[in-house]
Amino acid sequence: MAGQNTTKESLMDNATFRALGHRLIDWAADLRAGLGERPVAHDFVPGAVAAMLPAAAPQQGEDLTDLCAELDRMVVPHVVHWQHPAYFGWFPSGGLEAGVLGELISASLSVIGLSWQSAPALTELETVTMAWFRDLCGLPEHYRGVIQDSASVSTQVALTCARERASGMAMQAGGLAGYGRPLVVYYTVHSHSSVEKAALLAGFGRDNLRAVACDGDDAMDPAALAAAIDEDLAAGRVPCAVVATCGTTGVLAFDPIAAIATVARAHGAWLHVDAAMAGAALLLPEWRARFAGIHQADSLVINAHKWLGVPFDCSIYLVADHRQLEAVMSTSPSYLQSGQDGAVANYRDWGLPLGRRFRALKLWLVLRDQGVAGLQARLRRDLDNARWLGDQVTATPDWQLVRPVRLQTVCLRHDPPGLTGEALDRHTLAWAARVNASGQAWISPSICDGRWMVRLSIGAHATERHHVAAAWDLIQRSALAVMEA
Ligand code: PLP
Repeated sequence: MAGQNTTKESLMDNATFRALGHRLIDWAADLRAGLGERPVAHDFVPGAVAAMLPAAAPQQGEDLTDLCAELDRMVVPHVVHWQHPAYFGWFPSGGLEAGVLGELISASLSVIGLSWQSAPALTELETVTMAWFRDLCGLPEHYRGVIQDSASVSTQVALTCARERASGMAMQAGGLAGYGRPLVVYYTVHSHSSVEKAALLAGFGRDNLRAVACDGDDAMDPAALAAAIDEDLAAGRVPCAVVATCGTTGVLAFDPIAAIATVARAHGAWLHVDAAMAGAALLLPEWRARFAGIHQADSLVINAHKWLGVPFDCSIYLVADHRQLEAVMSTSPSYLQSGQDGAVANYRDWGLPLGRRFRALKLWLVLRDQGVAGLQARLRRDLDNARWLGDQVTATPDWQLVRPVRLQTVCLRHDPPGLTGEALDRHTLAWAARVNASGQAWISPSICDGRWMVRLSIGAHATERHHVAAAWDLIQRSALAVMEA
Protein backbone atom coordinates (compact mmCIF):
# COMPACT_ATOMS: atom_id res chain seq x y z
CA MET A 1 0.00 0.00 0.00
CA ALA A 2 2.06 2.90 -1.30
CA GLY A 3 2.08 5.93 0.99
CA GLN A 4 0.32 4.04 3.76
CA ASN A 5 1.73 3.39 7.16
CA THR A 6 1.25 -0.36 7.53
CA THR A 7 1.57 -0.54 11.33
CA LYS A 8 -1.98 -1.42 12.31
CA GLU A 9 -1.95 0.28 15.69
CA SER A 10 -0.86 3.64 14.27
CA LEU A 11 -3.50 6.08 13.08
CA MET A 12 -0.93 8.32 11.41
CA ASP A 13 -1.12 7.26 7.79
CA ASN A 14 0.45 9.40 5.13
CA ALA A 15 -2.74 11.36 4.42
CA THR A 16 -3.23 12.11 8.13
CA PHE A 17 0.40 13.14 8.42
CA ARG A 18 -0.06 15.53 5.51
CA ALA A 19 -3.27 17.04 6.88
CA LEU A 20 -2.03 17.38 10.45
CA GLY A 21 1.31 18.69 9.23
CA HIS A 22 -0.42 21.46 7.29
CA ARG A 23 -2.46 22.37 10.35
CA LEU A 24 0.62 22.36 12.53
CA ILE A 25 2.47 24.75 10.25
CA ASP A 26 -0.56 27.05 10.36
CA TRP A 27 -0.57 26.72 14.13
CA ALA A 28 3.14 27.57 14.33
CA ALA A 29 2.80 30.54 11.99
CA ASP A 30 -0.20 31.87 13.95
CA LEU A 31 1.62 31.38 17.23
CA ARG A 32 4.57 33.35 15.98
CA ALA A 33 2.48 36.10 14.41
CA GLY A 34 0.55 36.59 17.63
CA LEU A 35 3.32 36.02 20.14
CA GLY A 36 3.71 39.72 20.98
CA GLU A 37 0.06 39.85 22.11
CA ARG A 38 0.49 36.97 24.54
CA PRO A 39 2.18 37.02 27.93
CA VAL A 40 5.88 36.17 27.69
CA ALA A 41 5.27 33.74 30.55
CA HIS A 42 2.57 32.84 33.03
CA ASP A 43 2.83 32.23 36.74
CA PHE A 44 3.91 28.61 36.52
CA VAL A 45 2.70 26.08 39.08
CA PRO A 46 4.87 22.99 39.55
CA GLY A 47 3.06 19.83 38.47
CA ALA A 48 0.39 21.63 36.43
CA VAL A 49 1.49 20.09 33.14
CA ALA A 50 2.09 16.63 34.59
CA ALA A 51 -1.44 16.72 36.04
CA MET A 52 -2.88 17.05 32.52
CA LEU A 53 -1.22 13.83 31.39
CA PRO A 54 -2.29 10.24 31.98
CA ALA A 55 -0.21 8.19 34.37
CA ALA A 56 0.77 5.64 31.71
CA ALA A 57 1.45 5.62 27.98
CA PRO A 58 -1.58 4.75 25.80
CA GLN A 59 -2.00 1.07 25.00
CA GLN A 60 -3.67 1.78 21.66
CA GLY A 61 -2.80 4.44 19.14
CA GLU A 62 -4.69 7.70 19.68
CA ASP A 63 -6.24 10.12 17.24
CA LEU A 64 -4.08 13.27 17.15
CA THR A 65 -6.59 15.43 15.26
CA ASP A 66 -6.93 17.80 18.22
CA LEU A 67 -3.20 18.20 18.69
CA CYS A 68 -3.16 21.96 18.07
CA ALA A 69 -5.84 22.57 20.71
CA GLU A 70 -3.95 20.35 23.12
CA LEU A 71 -0.75 22.30 22.52
CA ASP A 72 -2.61 25.55 23.16
CA ARG A 73 -3.91 24.20 26.44
CA MET A 74 -0.98 22.23 27.71
CA VAL A 75 2.22 23.61 26.22
CA VAL A 76 1.84 27.22 25.16
CA PRO A 77 0.86 28.59 28.60
CA HIS A 78 3.59 26.55 30.26
CA VAL A 79 6.74 27.79 28.61
CA VAL A 80 8.67 31.03 28.74
CA HIS A 81 8.34 32.32 25.19
CA TRP A 82 11.93 32.88 24.16
CA GLN A 83 10.81 34.14 20.74
CA HIS A 84 8.58 36.82 22.29
CA PRO A 85 9.70 40.38 21.46
CA ALA A 86 9.71 41.20 25.19
CA TYR A 87 11.94 38.25 26.07
CA PHE A 88 15.15 39.54 27.65
CA GLY A 89 16.02 36.45 29.70
CA TRP A 90 19.16 34.41 30.10
CA PHE A 91 20.35 34.71 26.49
CA PRO A 92 18.56 34.72 23.13
CA SER A 93 17.43 31.44 21.61
CA GLY A 94 17.70 31.30 17.84
CA GLY A 95 14.31 30.67 16.34
CA LEU A 96 14.33 32.02 12.82
CA GLU A 97 11.66 30.49 10.60
CA ALA A 98 14.13 29.20 8.04
CA GLY A 99 15.87 27.28 10.79
CA VAL A 100 12.57 25.87 12.05
CA LEU A 101 11.97 24.52 8.56
CA GLY A 102 15.47 23.08 8.61
CA GLU A 103 14.47 21.08 11.69
CA LEU A 104 11.35 19.89 9.91
CA ILE A 105 13.37 18.67 6.97
CA SER A 106 15.86 16.99 9.26
CA ALA A 107 13.13 15.11 11.12
CA SER A 108 11.33 14.30 7.86
CA LEU A 109 14.42 12.63 6.49
CA SER A 110 15.38 11.16 9.86
CA VAL A 111 18.71 10.03 8.51
CA ILE A 112 21.59 9.48 10.89
CA GLY A 113 25.10 10.49 9.95
CA LEU A 114 27.07 7.52 11.20
CA SER A 115 29.56 7.98 8.40
CA TRP A 116 29.84 9.94 5.18
CA GLN A 117 28.39 6.95 3.38
CA SER A 118 25.25 6.87 5.52
CA ALA A 119 24.20 10.34 4.32
CA PRO A 120 26.71 12.13 2.09
CA ALA A 121 24.52 15.25 1.91
CA LEU A 122 24.54 15.50 5.71
CA THR A 123 28.32 15.43 5.86
CA GLU A 124 28.99 17.63 2.88
CA LEU A 125 26.46 20.30 3.81
CA GLU A 126 28.08 20.43 7.23
CA THR A 127 31.56 20.69 5.71
CA VAL A 128 30.54 23.50 3.39
CA THR A 129 28.52 25.50 5.94
CA MET A 130 31.38 25.17 8.43
CA ALA A 131 33.77 26.62 5.86
CA TRP A 132 31.33 29.44 5.12
CA PHE A 133 31.02 30.14 8.81
CA ARG A 134 34.76 30.10 9.41
CA ASP A 135 35.21 32.61 6.60
CA LEU A 136 32.40 34.79 7.94
CA CYS A 137 34.22 34.90 11.28
CA GLY A 138 37.45 35.97 9.57
CA LEU A 139 39.31 32.86 10.73
CA PRO A 140 42.19 31.42 8.70
CA GLU A 141 41.58 28.53 6.30
CA HIS A 142 43.26 25.88 8.41
CA TYR A 143 40.36 26.01 10.87
CA ARG A 144 37.83 23.25 10.35
CA GLY A 145 34.42 23.16 11.94
CA VAL A 146 31.97 20.58 13.18
CA ILE A 147 28.53 21.03 14.67
CA GLN A 148 28.17 19.86 18.26
CA ASP A 149 25.00 19.95 20.31
CA SER A 150 26.18 22.46 22.90
CA ALA A 151 29.03 24.65 24.02
CA SER A 152 29.30 22.45 27.09
CA VAL A 153 30.08 19.39 24.97
CA SER A 154 32.41 21.40 22.73
CA THR A 155 34.43 22.48 25.74
CA GLN A 156 34.44 18.90 27.00
CA VAL A 157 35.83 17.77 23.64
CA ALA A 158 38.45 20.54 23.71
CA LEU A 159 39.64 19.65 27.21
CA THR A 160 39.76 15.96 26.38
CA CYS A 161 41.95 16.69 23.35
CA ALA A 162 44.09 19.04 25.45
CA ARG A 163 44.53 16.31 28.05
CA GLU A 164 45.67 13.82 25.45
CA ARG A 165 48.02 16.25 23.74
CA ALA A 166 49.66 17.23 27.02
CA SER A 167 49.97 13.65 28.23
CA GLY A 168 51.24 12.18 24.94
CA MET A 169 48.00 10.21 24.49
CA ALA A 170 47.92 8.78 28.00
CA MET A 171 44.52 7.25 27.27
CA GLN A 172 46.26 4.67 25.08
CA ALA A 173 48.07 3.31 28.13
CA GLY A 174 47.38 3.92 31.81
CA GLY A 175 45.26 7.08 31.42
CA LEU A 176 45.87 10.09 33.64
CA ALA A 177 46.81 7.91 36.60
CA GLY A 178 49.46 6.22 34.48
CA TYR A 179 50.77 9.56 33.25
CA GLY A 180 51.53 10.53 36.80
CA ARG A 181 51.88 14.30 36.65
CA PRO A 182 48.85 16.49 37.42
CA LEU A 183 47.52 18.40 34.38
CA VAL A 184 46.13 21.86 35.12
CA VAL A 185 43.28 23.85 33.49
CA TYR A 186 43.06 27.65 33.78
CA TYR A 187 39.93 29.81 33.46
CA THR A 188 38.29 32.57 35.54
CA VAL A 189 35.43 32.99 37.99
CA HIS A 190 33.45 34.52 35.13
CA SER A 191 33.78 31.44 32.92
CA HIS A 192 30.60 29.49 32.30
CA SER A 193 29.90 26.67 34.75
CA SER A 194 30.24 24.26 31.82
CA VAL A 195 34.02 24.86 31.81
CA GLU A 196 34.49 23.55 35.31
CA LYS A 197 32.07 20.70 34.63
CA ALA A 198 33.91 19.72 31.45
CA ALA A 199 37.27 19.78 33.24
CA LEU A 200 35.94 17.62 36.05
CA LEU A 201 34.37 15.15 33.64
CA ALA A 202 37.57 15.03 31.60
CA GLY A 203 39.30 13.78 34.73
CA PHE A 204 41.49 16.74 35.67
CA GLY A 205 40.33 16.78 39.29
CA ARG A 206 39.25 19.85 41.22
CA ASP A 207 42.72 20.29 42.73
CA ASN A 208 44.00 21.01 39.23
CA LEU A 209 41.52 23.72 38.25
CA ARG A 210 42.73 27.32 38.56
CA ALA A 211 40.45 30.35 38.57
CA VAL A 212 42.90 33.00 37.34
CA ALA A 213 42.53 36.53 38.74
CA CYS A 214 40.67 39.11 36.62
CA ASP A 215 41.35 42.76 35.95
CA GLY A 216 38.93 45.65 36.47
CA ASP A 217 37.06 44.69 33.30
CA ASP A 218 36.28 41.18 34.62
CA ALA A 219 38.77 39.81 32.08
CA MET A 220 41.48 37.22 32.71
CA ASP A 221 44.72 38.93 33.72
CA PRO A 222 47.48 37.44 31.49
CA ALA A 223 50.16 38.28 34.11
CA ALA A 224 48.16 36.39 36.74
CA LEU A 225 47.84 33.49 34.30
CA ALA A 226 51.60 33.45 33.78
CA ALA A 227 52.19 33.56 37.53
CA ALA A 228 49.76 30.70 38.16
CA ILE A 229 51.46 28.61 35.48
CA ASP A 230 54.90 29.32 36.96
CA GLU A 231 53.68 28.22 40.36
CA ASP A 232 52.27 24.98 38.94
CA LEU A 233 55.45 24.25 36.99
CA ALA A 234 57.54 24.78 40.11
CA ALA A 235 55.38 22.21 41.88
CA GLY A 236 55.82 19.67 39.07
CA ARG A 237 52.38 20.15 37.55
CA VAL A 238 51.77 20.53 33.81
CA PRO A 239 49.89 23.54 32.36
CA CYS A 240 47.49 21.72 30.06
CA ALA A 241 44.72 24.05 28.90
CA VAL A 242 43.53 27.63 29.16
CA VAL A 243 39.86 28.36 28.57
CA ALA A 244 39.35 32.01 27.68
CA THR A 245 35.92 33.51 27.15
CA CYS A 246 34.69 36.12 24.71
CA GLY A 247 31.46 37.32 26.30
CA THR A 248 31.13 35.73 29.74
CA THR A 249 27.61 34.71 30.62
CA GLY A 250 26.99 37.07 33.52
CA VAL A 251 28.68 40.31 32.58
CA LEU A 252 29.84 39.74 28.99
CA ALA A 253 33.53 40.19 29.75
CA PHE A 254 36.06 39.64 26.99
CA ASP A 255 39.28 37.92 28.00
CA PRO A 256 42.33 39.34 26.13
CA ILE A 257 42.91 36.42 23.76
CA ALA A 258 46.14 37.62 22.13
CA ALA A 259 47.99 38.08 25.43
CA ILE A 260 46.56 34.85 26.82
CA ALA A 261 47.60 32.98 23.67
CA THR A 262 51.17 34.19 24.11
CA VAL A 263 51.30 32.77 27.63
CA ALA A 264 49.53 29.53 26.66
CA ARG A 265 51.83 28.96 23.68
CA ALA A 266 54.95 29.59 25.70
CA HIS A 267 53.97 26.63 27.87
CA GLY A 268 52.43 24.41 25.21
CA ALA A 269 48.98 24.71 26.78
CA TRP A 270 45.88 24.23 24.64
CA LEU A 271 43.90 27.46 24.18
CA HIS A 272 40.15 26.96 23.96
CA VAL A 273 37.98 30.04 23.45
CA ASP A 274 34.39 29.95 24.67
CA ALA A 275 32.62 32.46 22.44
CA ALA A 276 29.28 30.71 22.85
CA MET A 277 27.31 33.92 23.18
CA ALA A 278 29.47 36.70 21.77
CA GLY A 279 30.97 34.78 18.84
CA ALA A 280 28.10 35.90 16.62
CA ALA A 281 29.66 39.37 16.71
CA LEU A 282 32.60 38.01 14.70
CA LEU A 283 30.28 38.45 11.73
CA LEU A 284 30.66 42.19 12.24
CA PRO A 285 34.02 43.41 10.94
CA GLU A 286 33.91 46.41 13.27
CA TRP A 287 33.80 43.99 16.24
CA ARG A 288 36.73 41.80 15.27
CA ALA A 289 39.21 43.84 17.32
CA ARG A 290 37.40 42.68 20.48
CA PHE A 291 38.42 39.14 19.55
CA ALA A 292 42.03 39.98 18.66
CA GLY A 293 44.20 36.88 18.83
CA ILE A 294 41.34 34.43 18.37
CA HIS A 295 43.08 32.97 15.32
CA GLN A 296 45.70 31.62 17.74
CA ALA A 297 43.21 29.43 19.56
CA ASP A 298 43.52 25.66 19.29
CA SER A 299 39.74 25.49 19.39
CA LEU A 300 36.74 27.72 19.83
CA VAL A 301 33.00 27.38 20.15
CA ILE A 302 30.25 29.67 18.93
CA ASN A 303 26.61 28.86 19.61
CA ALA A 304 24.75 29.60 16.42
CA HIS A 305 21.65 28.71 18.42
CA LYS A 306 21.94 31.78 20.58
CA TRP A 307 22.06 35.25 19.09
CA LEU A 308 22.64 34.18 15.51
CA GLY A 309 19.13 32.82 15.13
CA VAL A 310 19.54 29.11 14.39
CA PRO A 311 17.16 26.97 16.48
CA PHE A 312 18.75 24.96 19.29
CA ASP A 313 20.93 22.93 19.01
CA CYS A 314 23.77 24.19 16.83
CA SER A 315 27.14 24.75 18.50
CA ILE A 316 29.89 25.42 16.03
CA TYR A 317 33.17 23.95 17.21
CA LEU A 318 36.19 25.11 15.24
CA VAL A 319 39.65 23.57 15.56
CA ALA A 320 43.02 24.67 14.26
CA ASP A 321 44.15 21.09 13.67
CA HIS A 322 41.34 18.59 13.17
CA ARG A 323 43.84 15.71 13.20
CA GLN A 324 44.06 16.13 16.97
CA LEU A 325 40.33 15.53 17.17
CA GLU A 326 40.61 12.43 15.04
CA ALA A 327 43.55 11.14 17.04
CA VAL A 328 41.47 11.19 20.21
CA MET A 329 37.92 10.51 18.95
CA SER A 330 38.28 8.06 16.06
CA THR A 331 36.47 4.76 15.97
CA SER A 332 36.28 2.46 13.01
CA PRO A 333 34.11 -0.61 13.58
CA SER A 334 33.93 -2.85 10.54
CA TYR A 335 30.26 -2.11 9.81
CA LEU A 336 31.03 1.61 9.43
CA GLN A 337 33.98 1.24 7.09
CA SER A 338 33.61 2.13 3.44
CA GLY A 339 35.76 2.39 0.35
CA GLN A 340 35.69 6.19 0.63
CA ASP A 341 37.26 6.39 4.10
CA GLY A 342 40.33 8.55 3.93
CA ALA A 343 38.87 10.65 1.12
CA VAL A 344 35.86 11.93 3.11
CA ALA A 345 35.12 13.38 6.55
CA ASN A 346 33.56 11.02 9.08
CA TYR A 347 32.31 13.36 11.76
CA ARG A 348 31.88 10.62 14.33
CA ASP A 349 35.66 11.03 14.64
CA TRP A 350 35.28 14.71 15.57
CA GLY A 351 33.27 14.32 18.76
CA LEU A 352 31.68 11.94 21.21
CA PRO A 353 28.45 10.68 19.60
CA LEU A 354 28.44 8.18 16.80
CA GLY A 355 25.06 9.24 15.41
CA ARG A 356 24.79 12.72 13.93
CA ARG A 357 21.66 14.78 13.29
CA PHE A 358 21.28 16.73 10.07
CA ARG A 359 21.83 20.02 11.91
CA ALA A 360 23.61 21.71 9.02
CA LEU A 361 20.24 22.07 7.26
CA LYS A 362 18.99 24.70 9.69
CA LEU A 363 22.25 26.64 9.61
CA TRP A 364 22.29 26.47 5.81
CA LEU A 365 18.72 27.72 5.53
CA VAL A 366 19.23 30.54 8.04
CA LEU A 367 22.34 31.73 6.20
CA ARG A 368 20.50 31.62 2.88
CA ASP A 369 17.30 33.20 4.13
CA GLN A 370 18.96 36.04 6.03
CA GLY A 371 22.08 36.52 3.99
CA VAL A 372 25.13 37.84 5.77
CA ALA A 373 23.76 41.36 5.41
CA GLY A 374 20.50 40.42 7.11
CA LEU A 375 22.27 38.78 10.02
CA GLN A 376 24.62 41.71 10.42
CA ALA A 377 21.76 44.22 10.36
CA ARG A 378 19.93 42.39 13.15
CA LEU A 379 23.04 42.08 15.31
CA ARG A 380 23.77 45.78 14.86
CA ARG A 381 20.16 46.62 15.72
CA ASP A 382 20.45 44.70 18.99
CA LEU A 383 23.81 46.25 19.86
CA ASP A 384 22.34 49.66 19.24
CA ASN A 385 19.29 48.89 21.38
CA ALA A 386 21.55 47.71 24.22
CA ARG A 387 23.63 50.89 24.03
CA TRP A 388 20.42 52.95 24.06
CA LEU A 389 19.12 51.16 27.13
CA GLY A 390 22.50 51.55 28.84
CA ASP A 391 22.30 55.31 28.23
CA GLN A 392 18.79 55.47 29.69
CA VAL A 393 19.88 53.64 32.82
CA THR A 394 22.92 55.88 33.27
CA ALA A 395 20.81 59.00 32.86
CA THR A 396 18.12 57.94 35.33
CA PRO A 397 18.54 58.86 39.01
CA ASP A 398 18.70 55.93 41.44
CA TRP A 399 19.50 53.46 38.65
CA GLN A 400 22.89 51.94 38.19
CA LEU A 401 24.51 50.38 35.18
CA VAL A 402 26.29 47.57 37.04
CA ARG A 403 28.72 46.97 34.16
CA PRO A 404 29.40 48.88 30.94
CA VAL A 405 27.33 47.59 28.03
CA ARG A 406 29.87 45.24 26.46
CA LEU A 407 27.66 43.51 23.91
CA GLN A 408 23.88 43.17 23.70
CA THR A 409 23.29 42.56 27.41
CA VAL A 410 22.54 45.30 29.93
CA CYS A 411 23.33 44.71 33.61
CA LEU A 412 21.37 47.07 35.85
CA ARG A 413 20.14 47.65 39.37
CA HIS A 414 17.72 50.00 41.09
CA ASP A 415 19.83 51.59 43.80
CA PRO A 416 17.60 53.96 45.77
CA PRO A 417 19.21 55.83 48.67
CA GLY A 418 19.10 53.98 51.98
CA LEU A 419 18.83 50.48 50.54
CA THR A 420 21.97 48.39 50.92
CA GLY A 421 23.11 44.82 51.50
CA GLU A 422 20.45 42.16 51.81
CA ALA A 423 17.64 44.71 51.81
CA LEU A 424 18.83 45.85 48.39
CA ASP A 425 18.97 42.22 47.23
CA ARG A 426 15.39 41.64 48.42
CA HIS A 427 14.28 44.76 46.57
CA THR A 428 16.01 43.71 43.35
CA LEU A 429 14.54 40.23 43.42
CA ALA A 430 11.09 41.61 44.26
CA TRP A 431 10.89 44.03 41.37
CA ALA A 432 12.40 41.50 38.96
CA ALA A 433 9.77 38.96 40.03
CA ARG A 434 7.08 41.58 39.55
CA VAL A 435 8.27 42.26 36.01
CA ASN A 436 8.28 38.56 35.17
CA ALA A 437 4.89 37.95 36.79
CA SER A 438 3.37 40.73 34.67
CA GLY A 439 3.82 38.65 31.53
CA GLN A 440 4.91 41.84 29.75
CA ALA A 441 8.64 41.13 29.80
CA TRP A 442 11.02 38.42 30.93
CA ILE A 443 14.32 39.28 32.59
CA SER A 444 17.00 37.38 34.52
CA PRO A 445 18.27 38.33 37.96
CA SER A 446 21.86 37.30 38.55
CA ILE A 447 24.58 37.89 41.14
CA CYS A 448 27.49 40.21 40.39
CA ASP A 449 30.11 41.15 42.99
CA GLY A 450 28.04 39.36 45.62
CA ARG A 451 24.89 41.45 45.01
CA TRP A 452 21.81 40.71 42.92
CA MET A 453 21.38 42.68 39.73
CA VAL A 454 19.23 42.16 36.65
CA ARG A 455 20.41 41.25 33.16
CA LEU A 456 18.50 42.19 30.05
CA SER A 457 19.82 40.12 27.19
CA ILE A 458 18.57 41.72 24.00
CA GLY A 459 18.48 39.52 20.92
CA ALA A 460 15.13 37.86 20.22
CA HIS A 461 14.71 38.45 16.53
CA ALA A 462 11.32 40.16 17.00
CA THR A 463 12.66 42.67 19.53
CA GLU A 464 12.63 46.25 18.27
CA ARG A 465 13.53 49.49 20.05
CA HIS A 466 9.96 50.10 21.22
CA HIS A 467 9.92 46.73 22.99
CA VAL A 468 13.12 47.66 24.82
CA ALA A 469 11.66 51.05 25.73
CA ALA A 470 8.46 49.42 27.00
CA ALA A 471 10.48 46.97 29.11
CA TRP A 472 12.54 49.79 30.60
CA ASP A 473 9.36 51.67 31.47
CA LEU A 474 7.88 48.53 33.05
CA ILE A 475 11.07 47.93 35.04
CA GLN A 476 11.02 51.43 36.51
CA ARG A 477 7.33 51.22 37.37
CA SER A 478 7.82 47.81 38.96
CA ALA A 479 10.70 49.00 41.12
CA LEU A 480 8.69 51.99 42.33
CA ALA A 481 5.64 49.85 42.98
CA VAL A 482 7.70 47.51 45.13
CA MET A 483 9.09 50.50 47.07
CA GLU A 484 5.59 51.78 47.71
CA ALA A 485 4.06 48.43 48.65
N1 PLP B 1 29.49 29.42 27.51
C1 PLP B 1 28.87 30.58 27.64
C2 PLP B 1 29.68 31.85 27.62
C3 PLP B 1 27.48 30.64 27.78
O1 PLP B 1 26.88 31.83 27.92
C4 PLP B 1 26.74 29.44 27.79
C5 PLP B 1 25.29 29.46 27.97
O2 PLP B 1 24.70 30.40 28.39
C6 PLP B 1 27.44 28.23 27.66
C7 PLP B 1 28.80 28.25 27.52
C8 PLP B 1 26.73 26.90 27.67
O3 PLP B 1 26.05 26.73 26.48
P1 PLP B 1 25.37 25.33 26.09
O4 PLP B 1 23.99 25.38 26.66
O5 PLP B 1 25.38 25.33 24.59
O6 PLP B 1 26.17 24.24 26.67
